[in-house]
Amino acid sequence: EKFNIAIDGPAAAGKSTVARLVARHLGFVYVDTGAMYRAVTWKALQAGIASDNKDELVRLAGSLQIELYPGEQAQQVILDGIDVTDLIRSVAVNQNVSAVAAVPEIRRLLVLKQQEMARAKGVVMDGRDIGTHVMPDAELKIFLTASVRERAERRYLEMKDKQEEVTLEQLEKDIAERDRMDEEREASPLVRADDAVLIDTSGMSVPQVAERILELAKT
Ligand code: C5P
Repeated sequence: EKFNIAIDGPAAAGKSTVARLVARHLGFVYVDTGAMYRAVTWKALQAGIASDNKDELVRLAGSLQIELYPGEQAQQVILDGIDVTDLIRSVAVNQNVSAVAAVPEIRRLLVLKQQEMARAKGVVMDGRDIGTHVMPDAELKIFLTASVRERAERRYLEMKDKQEEVTLEQLEKDIAERDRMDEEREASPLVRADDAVLIDTSGMSVPQVAERILELAKT
């Protein structure tokens, strides 16, 4: 029997790693919605569009062809034929994505795409507004959190192998700022759905969190 799982939570709470693992266990499709907002943001930076130029951002978002494919490490993102999977994880994208994601017309566009993907059922989708807006009828809703410090430390370990130089302090600052913007924006802000199960992942390993979600999925 196929059903949908919504996983929401603040930045770097481990949503994507956990969601991918859960999807693999169940034989479901994993959809990383943050990657879509990141792809639009990356393209806007490339095109030199300021993050407060809403009209241009909306025009750009409407013209983009975003394709998502299941990948080994991360979901593969193809933007107008270019593989941007790694490019959308840059510090510059981190610092601008929340402003882009706050534009209501851009959210409308991407949410429609996400809802289309959810129609098939058997989808594990992660983001900020999945349980509240994208899949309000999801059979299972999870809200993952951890302290800002712990989230920054995890992200730091991930980024250490990448080429980009970044300090733990910078990451912590960026994550806290992104959370603030995501929580304070007007269009579907980051908030736990009333019927989402809260899991504080502080001190938990990825397999432990996935195990807990799989247990919840059985009932
Ligand atoms: O999940 P990730 O950290 O990659 O998301 C990047 C940004 O995209 C978030 O900080 C948020 O501003 C935006 N986002 C969103 N709604 C979603 C997924 C991501 O607004 N469903």
